[in-house]
Amino acid sequence: MLELRRVCTFYGNIQALHEVSLTIHKGEIVTLIGANGAGKTTTLMSICGVVPPRQGEILFEGRPIHILPPDRVVALGISQVPEGRLIFPEMTVLENLELGAFLRSDTAGIQEDLDYVLTLFPILAERRRQLGGTLSGGEQQMLAISRALMARPRLLLLDEPSLGLAPIVIQQIFAIIQRVNKAGTTVFLVEQNAHQALKIAHRGYVMENGRITLEDSAHALLANDEVRRAYLGM
Ligand code: ATP
Repeated sequence: MLELRRVCTFYGNIQALHEVSLTIHKGEIVTLIGANGAGKTTTLMSICGVVPPRQGEILFEGRPIHILPPDRVVALGISQVPEGRLIFPEMTVLENLELGAFLRSDTAGIQEDLDYVLTLFPILAERRRQLGGTLSGGEQQMLAISRALMARPRLLLLDEPSLGLAPIVIQQIFAIIQRVNKAGTTVFLVEQNAHQALKIAHRGYVMENGRITLEDSAHALLANDEVRRAYLGM
C-alpha cells in the first residue's frame, strides 16, 4: 500500500532522514519506533507532503505521492493524527469532527462516518457539544483519531498517540487502534512507547539518527535483545 524508497529529507542544510526505505501492506499495523529526535515525525511529515523529501520516492498504491501537496495526499486516502493531537480547542467536538471531512462532499457518507466514530468513542457522543479544549488528554486523543477517520482514510498515520497519557488511557487508545485496523484501515504507528506499539503491530521498524537500523515482525522485535535493552528497558 505504501512504499518509501531511499527517502532523504532535510530541514535546510540538516539531513533528518538518510535513505529511509519501508513498506506497509494493506491491512497491517506497522510501527516505527525510536528515541527522541530519531526522525519518526519527519518520516510522517514526508509521507503526508508537509516536509517533502529531497531525494527518493514515496508510492501510495503504486502512485508517486512525494510530489503532491498535503491536501492531495489526504484526498488520496491518507490521514494523519499529529503529535500533541492539535485539536481546535475553541470548537465543539462535533465541529472538530466535521472539519475532518472538509475535503468530502458526500453528505450521506459523512453522516455514516460520524455515526461510526461516535459509536467507537461513546464519550465523544456524550460530549459532542462541549468545546474541544475542555476535554481530558485521553478524550482529545480520541477526538484527534476520530477527526482523522472522518476523512475515511485507507491509511491512518498516528504520531505518538500515547504521549502524556495515563497507562489505563493508553490501553484504551491502543485497543481502539486495533479495532479501527480490524474494521479495514491500514495503520502506520509512530511511537516511543515501543512495548505497547509492538504488542499491537504486525511488523516494526527501528529508527536511529534518521536511519532504519532494524526491521522484523513485531513478535521478533519484542524478543530481540538489542530492542529489549534499548527500547523496552529490560
Ligand atoms: P520526537 O519523538 O522527539 O518527536 P522524532 O523521532 O519524531 O522525535 P523528528 O522530530 O523527526 O524526530 O526530528 C528528527 C531530527 O530533525 C532531529 O534532529 C530534529 O532536531 C530535527 N528537526 C525536526 N524538525 C525540525 C525543524 N523544523 N527544523 C530543523 N530541524 C528539525
